[in-house]
Amino acid sequence: MVRSTGGTGMPLAFSSILGQERAMGLLRRYSASGRIAAGFLFHGEEGIGKEKTARAFAHALICREPDDDGACGRCRECLLLAGGGHPSLFVITRPEDKASIPIESIRKLWEELSLKAFSDRPRVILFLPADDLLLPAANALLKTLEEPPPSTHLVLVAHRLSRVPATILSRCQKIPFSPLPHETVEEILRATGEMDENCTDEMLRTAVSCSGGSPGRALAMLAAGDESRRGWLRAFCKFDAAATFKFTESWKKAEERDDAFAVPLSLLRDLLLLSSGSNGAIMNEDMRNELGSAAARKSPAGWARAMKMLLETSRMPPKQFQRRLAVEALIFRSHGKD
Ligand SMILES: [Zn+2]
Repeated sequence: MVRSTGGTGMPLAFSSILGQERAMGLLRRYSASGRIAAGFLFHGEEGIGKEKTARAFAHALICREPDDDGACGRCRECLLLAGGGHPSLFVITRPEDKASIPIESIRKLWEELSLKAFSDRPRVILFLPADDLLLPAANALLKTLEEPPPSTHLVLVAHRLSRVPATILSRCQKIPFSPLPHETVEEILRATGEMDENCTDEMLRTAVSCSGGSPGRALAMLAAGDESRRGWLRAFCKFDAAATFKFTESWKKAEERDDAFAVPLSLLRDLLLLSSGSNGAIMNEDMRNELGSAAARKSPAGWARAMKMLLETSRMPPKQFQRRLAVEALIFRSHGKD
């Protein structure tokens, strides 16, 4: 059986997707019934396997001899998919120099869909992610969802449902993805082969415990290195205005990511726990001493307010000066008494 578990263009086996039993159960049921909706919306946090699943599902739809575990990996379609250039698989993403998916991308897609299909197998269009699909591109897509060309399926991957226009939401079959248990996150990280050889077990455990159940977030934290965590620790623990401005300036590059707030939130959570006198496990166990001294500066209510402020800031749109200002204000406030 020529079937990959991930990382290449090889068709992916459904069984290689860990910890998403509910979503996989729904997809297996749809596949077996032969009644495949025109539009699917895979939703859930970033980095928990939605894109990998969307690709595996697309491969299974296009494959000539799929079974209960997805695409066969041997047929002509699978070999083309493995080569990375199957004409029936379309992937729509936001161009790097654009803030959202442009309407031209949807028009170009229409033109391609109006041509004769490459083979008698279905055509699948992946939107990675659909969060970048704003009006009016979303409106242009509605027609495709309402009257899809024969044997054409759209799979939209969304990290936040609130960003997907309601008109699109109501026309898609929704497949929910959940954050994963810590053991599964660790298992996935160890299996990726993407771990740096300098990554210690302690670094791995810290990344897992700060990941909120997202292997993608844990990998991003490990890739950012311990420097990012140390930077936030210094910002919260030692008052230095010039260093704070310098730090938020350097953080600007990372703040676009949805998971940019995972590290500071994990530290504030630890500060709140320690200030309330808890001796229980904290996420940043290796920083317990520094965090312990800083935690005494405020009451638990004060740290809870700081955490709420950071959560609100994390929901502000990225790339905006106000968001950076809010982070600076929060760091300065964390050194006050209230
Ligand atoms: Zn196949």
